Amino acid sequence: MSHSTIDQTGAPLLQVDDLKKHFPLRGGILGGTTGYVYAVDGVSFDIRRGETLSLVGESGCGKSTVGKALLQLYPITSGQVVLGGQRIDTMSSSTLRPIRRRMQVVFQDPFSSLNPRMRVRDILAEPIRNFGLAKTKDELDAKLGKLMDTVRLPRDAIGRWPHEFSGGQRQRIGIARALAAEPDLIICDEAVSALDVSVKAQIVNLLQDLQSQLGLALLFISHDLAIVEHMTHRVAVMYLGKIVEVAPRRSLFAAPKHPYTQALLSAVPVPQPGAARDRIILKGDVPSPINPPSGCRFHTRCPYVFDRCRVDEPKLQETEAGHTAACHLHDLPPEQNPLAGAASPLH
Ligand code: SF4
Repeated sequence: MSHSTIDQTGAPLLQVDDLKKHFPLRGGILGGTTGYVYAVDGVSFDIRRGETLSLVGESGCGKSTVGKALLQLYPITSGQVVLGGQRIDTMSSSTLRPIRRRMQVVFQDPFSSLNPRMRVRDILAEPIRNFGLAKTKDELDAKLGKLMDTVRLPRDAIGRWPHEFSGGQRQRIGIARALAAEPDLIICDEAVSALDVSVKAQIVNLLQDLQSQLGLALLFISHDLAIVEHMTHRVAVMYLGKIVEVAPRRSLFAAPKHPYTQALLSAVPVPQPGAARDRIILKGDVPSPINPPSGCRFHTRCPYVFDRCRVDEPKLQETEAGHTAACHLHDLPPEQNPLAGAASPLH
């Protein structure tokens, strides 16, 4: 992990409080609402300047919906999103417009997110012009050249079209486009998932370097814990629309405090040949977010389930400094809690 400085003073850059996003299901003869998909169902976290928070979980857990809700790509059902001290979820689109600059996104598929009919120069110039970040053509050209340097692409490639680049290079263009708006926070939504292993590592290194040079905050949304292990400060684990564990990277990977995190970590490939790994195979499939289980949402698959779990929803509680988990096992005496001091299945 790079040694970027996390700003520990003052309020966090981004504060998300009890965020919910429920999508209505339409049907019936009259096309009315017949139910809801509880995609994100009460998620709270914050991110400081210079910090990377990774939001992880299996596909369908709601992590990408969190990213899109933060970007205000659709209205949220309830909750609150505060960026730089300003509540943004209740803003009109005209008030929000200049604030959008501060929060940019890099998507998974750089090819479909770059306009194939625009040269790189125009792709990168668009946010600079839209947000009035260059007063003259010379200033614009200087910014464009610097952006190409920053993402380690040759300056003379700026006149080319997106299809003339490899997947990794296109993702560099996507990152340059996000940086062009001079943001405080970049949301990376599965930003390296589609890339080959070696290219993935290069893009992760680039993001880490940018973070330490520019003091950016990153929300890194990923299903890939192996990548997250090398590039994050903290990790938040999502299951079926809720955060079940939040912890500093080392603490989470060394001793997970939620049975779901334990199972996720047990599936991460072990880099050392011959290293031991106790894979935890979860029973059943992820339940539907249309009708999530009562009590603890993980109770239908949890190897440690007991009666209380089926009726009482566990809240996130601190198990050690900065490490929170939502699991009733932590209310039991340590000798009855199989996760008390549990080491990672990786170690
Ligand atoms: Fe398992 Fe119960 Fe903990 Fe949920 S609350 S993770 S079901 S032990």
